[in-house]
Amino acid sequence: MTALNIGIVGGGVGGLAAAIALQKVGHRVTVFEQASRYGRVGADINLTPNAVKVCDGLGIGEALRQHGAQPTHRISRTWDTGEETSRLEMAEAAVRNYNAPQITIHRADLLEALTSRLPAGVLTLEKRVATVGSQAQGASVRFADGTQQDYDLVIGADGIHSVVRAALFGQDHPEFTGLVSFRATVARDKLASLPNIDAFTKWWGPEPSIQIVTFPLNRGREQFIFATTAQDGWRDESWTLPGDVHELRRIYRDFHPEARALLDACTEVTKSALYVREPMPQWSQGAITLLGDACHPMVPFMAQGACMALEDAVVLARALQGVDMPGVAAALARYENTRKERTARVQRGSRGNEWLKQGGNADWVYGYDAWQVPLAD
Ligand code: FAD
Repeated sequence: MTALNIGIVGGGVGGLAAAIALQKVGHRVTVFEQASRYGRVGADINLTPNAVKVCDGLGIGEALRQHGAQPTHRISRTWDTGEETSRLEMAEAAVRNYNAPQITIHRADLLEALTSRLPAGVLTLEKRVATVGSQAQGASVRFADGTQQDYDLVIGADGIHSVVRAALFGQDHPEFTGLVSFRATVARDKLASLPNIDAFTKWWGPEPSIQIVTFPLNRGREQFIFATTAQDGWRDESWTLPGDVHELRRIYRDFHPEARALLDACTEVTKSALYVREPMPQWSQGAITLLGDACHPMVPFMAQGACMALEDAVVLARALQGVDMPGVAAALARYENTRKERTARVQRGSRGNEWLKQGGNADWVYGYDAWQVPLAD
């Protein structure tokens, strides 16, 4: 077999994971990331056992266990009375049931663990891709600085506003959910008096769209807070735009005092509108394919966005194992056929926003093993 020369657009969670996995099966990869450095932007990433299994196989499991936190339980509570409607054991139970824990980690720590597994020269920062195009053989990447590179295969791992997706299938038309979300991290010592602070807790509001989620990050030194509500005026979809902590407190002022105490401790918050997109019928064209948010962006109510991108990366690398140029189309079909049904189910389940509200069986999500799942022809 001749190693494929693969260009990856986007050095986020899925792009970096794909680079490691593809190198493991013998291909040559280059990752192009538009950011000039990985700062401590963004906040939480929730890695359920299905994603931790991916990370263990990529060789970053130890780093995640060191930097992340492992919530003891997954608790559902009612917004005003504080009544607990479900409590699932997480830490040891996840290892017992699924052979891996759940780890909550700052996105920056996850990216650092991933980049540490890449040899020098694989990742090029500050290189924005303008578009991609098919060639008679392979595909080309055109950069915003006017230069161009040709590859045997190009992977669009460039997130929700993917230029690769737009080049293949045109601009998407996401549907605004009518909801906005707030994200914040708070030093844990500000919340020391609150109960259940080591758990993943979801406060279900008077309607499912109004909710507050909280869990520990960074070895328990930080607490992450995520809240959603209906709001019409704000339409920006962004991971980094600042919101207003006073507005945040005002919206949830009738919640239980323990939920309000979380918001009182916030000094900064980001705000984003939430959009939904239908599952895409096709992810690949010629020698170009997509992974992660570029092909199945989802609202965060099942906390599976990063987990699905990590699973994609491993399945794509397995589908390309031992493949050279003539086999690329069949390998991409194998990848899509293995992944599309599962990611569509998670996209729709996230939109439904009922995940584990009354307990229930999480095996089909958490029990998946991307390293072992049979590839579908
Ligand atoms: P992402 O992790 O979003 O990665 C996409 C990457 O592609 C980014 O690094 C982006 O800079 C790069 N990119 C985009 N366009 C181009 C281009 N034209 N040329 C080159 N590079 C490009 N999720 C959460 O759950 N919580 C968070 O707090 C959170 N914070 C985030 C902060 C940032 C700055 C970003 C970009 C994403 C954040 N996410 C967050 C999203 C989360 O990482 C993804 O939903 C999930 O991990 C799926 O991964 P992905 O690789 O598909 O996309």
